[in-house]
Amino acid sequence: MEDLLHQRCFNHLLREAVARCPQCQRYFCRECVTEHEDKVLCAACLRADADTDRSDRSQLGGLVQMVHFLLGATLLWVFFYYLGQILLSLPSAFHEGTIWEKGWWN
Ligand SMILES: [Zn+2]
Ligand SMILES: [Zn+2]
Repeated sequence: MEDLLHQRCFNHLLREAVARCPQCQRYFCRECVTEHEDKVLCAACLRADADTDRSDRSQLGGLVQMVHFLLGATLLWVFFYYLGQILLSLPSAFHEGTIWEKGWWN
């Protein structure tokens, strides 16, 4: 701890360091370190950490997004297909006057 007092922030040469980043072993002032998942990291290491997190997530997220897209597209297709069927059968049923007899949905 004695050592820390004489250290300067890696980013701010005029500021005294208050913490040491366990990842890059450099000293930083209060402004330059962030608590992240019970670890005190400097901004650079935090960003690197977040990048690895994001790449992990984006791989899974891409798959989930793909499934969502396919599901959504299928649902949309089914919706418009049935809507088209209904719209196609509706006028003829109306014109034939059979809508009340058997129903246009049959
Ligand atoms: Zn660091
Ligand atoms: Zn600093």
